[in-house]
Amino acid sequence: MSQYLRLTAFLRGFKKEAALEVLIGLLITACGFLQAYMVAKAVDSVFAKQMFSAVYSYLAAALAAILIRAFFIRLNEGYKKEMAAKVKGGIRETLLDKLMLLGPAYESKRRSGNVQSLITDGVESFEPFLVNYIPQTAVVLVSVSAVVVYICTMDVSVGLLILAAAVLSILVPHFFMPMVSKVMVEYWQSYAYLNAQYIEAMQGMDTLKAFHASKTAKEHLKTDADNFADESIRNTGVSLADSSLIIICSAIGTSVSVALAAWHMATGRLTSQELLIILFLAGECMRPLSDLNMFWHSSYLGFSVADQLYAVLDEPVVLSEPAYPGPVSADSPELRLNDATFRYDKNEPPALLNASIVFRSGETTAIVGRSGSGKSTIVNLLLRFFDPQQGSVSLGGKDIRAYPLAELRSQIAVVFQDTYLFYGSVADNLRMAKPGASREELIAAAKAANAHDFIEKLPDGYDTMIGERGTTLSGGEKQRLAIARAVLKDAPVLILDEATSSVDVESEALIQKAMDEVSRGRTTIVIAHRLSTIRNADNIYVMENGRVSEQGAHPALLRKDGEYARLVCTQESAGMIG
Ligand code: ADP
Repeated sequence: MSQYLRLTAFLRGFKKEAALEVLIGLLITACGFLQAYMVAKAVDSVFAKQMFSAVYSYLAAALAAILIRAFFIRLNEGYKKEMAAKVKGGIRETLLDKLMLLGPAYESKRRSGNVQSLITDGVESFEPFLVNYIPQTAVVLVSVSAVVVYICTMDVSVGLLILAAAVLSILVPHFFMPMVSKVMVEYWQSYAYLNAQYIEAMQGMDTLKAFHASKTAKEHLKTDADNFADESIRNTGVSLADSSLIIICSAIGTSVSVALAAWHMATGRLTSQELLIILFLAGECMRPLSDLNMFWHSSYLGFSVADQLYAVLDEPVVLSEPAYPGPVSADSPELRLNDATFRYDKNEPPALLNASIVFRSGETTAIVGRSGSGKSTIVNLLLRFFDPQQGSVSLGGKDIRAYPLAELRSQIAVVFQDTYLFYGSVADNLRMAKPGASREELIAAAKAANAHDFIEKLPDGYDTMIGERGTTLSGGEKQRLAIARAVLKDAPVLILDEATSSVDVESEALIQKAMDEVSRGRTTIVIAHRLSTIRNADNIYVMENGRVSEQGAHPALLRKDGEYARLVCTQESAGMIG
């Protein structure tokens, strides 16, 4: 129960809108009652053999009520859609804010398809409860109370019977909740799983094709789709059983109360006109109730998804913001890893163990090591995607936990291994680093990154649209765009996590030239996978199983004949490191 109540918090910012929706709902119901009352009066005047004009005026009033009701229903539909868009927008914003706060540390442990289903279809499933059910509850409370009180003025026992039927038809679906919930949770999990499977198959299409695995993947997807179809049928079955019971409850309630009213008429406690009014009003009174049940019913999926929503919203944010945030003072600050130890999971061996690394101000420091030795973990700590469990990271002499995250990240420009280019123009992608940058600034940054020439050759130059993952660009071109983005950000610290996949020799030379240009005067950190790019680095750290095993400049390290020399050897025979 507290789970549903918690969802209502999302309506807090929409009190006025919800109140207006209740008001329109009450007007619709009032029109329905007026119509029922007038029809009862018209029928009674026919039985009483009154003048046609009396019947006529009752029927005209009933017709007017029908037309006004239709108008309000139409108004309500549009209004609800508008309100739903605002409410769902608010939930998505809250969810995205939290996901951003949790950062890649949270995302990396979950399948992207699951989070995506939650943000899209998951949030959609809250609409029936928040936008339909909650306001309708207020409509039902007011309208049913009004009818019950009115009928009680004619016949208390009939009024109370109608009240009992109404209460029963509201409560019955709640008894079903545990069973329905279980089916719905399974249905949603099966949907989210299928969604994640499809997204993965689409994203991994190249790999599947390359390994001739598309047929097997298709068979797996078919099995998952069949399982989802089974869950859907089970879900529909339970829903139908539940709603039939509610319909039976309210039908029995109405019939019994009308039967009691008829008996009371026969014994002279009620007039024929009162009986007719009860007959029509009791039926009409069930209408908002059956709408309420329908809305409750379509809310089930939302209740199951709510658990997943709260799991994200309640996830503790590990990275805390400082109480007294201060700016970074140095122009080209020094970064340090001070005896840092970090585990991704407490049951796993450390990804970094007592690592002490100095990234000297204005110099280029390279990190090398075999795959899995901890290089990317260092970047994760420098950007504060995670905090080390022991030791610390400092920037400009201060622990990075002392800076607000936004301030820290504004000091660092990163060129990631896997450059993500968003759907949009080349210019849009560049402007991500500096919104509002002029065309001249974009061109200057692209020139510094050796990207200007190839951008000019694209069909629409800087306005060329690039795919979701920049699929129309080569690996080397994507890297140079990412470097241009970093140039545009103009941050004092630059991190280049080199692409592991090889780029062609010409691209490599262009990237190298761009990097030499960009790193001038900046504290630069290169996570090197190819040794050729770091021969000139001021300082090189060699990582082995999360520890720093060697440190020095290229010639000195070669002379040592240790891990670095072995890596050079491996590179010479395989053409690559990392
Ligand atoms: P490198 O960049 O040198 O290839 P990483 O820093 O990526 O190495 O990885 C160091 C260790 O941490 C490896 O054992 C790797 O499996 C583990 N690791 C890396 N990222 C994660 C993660 N997000 N969750 C759990 N373990 C991880």
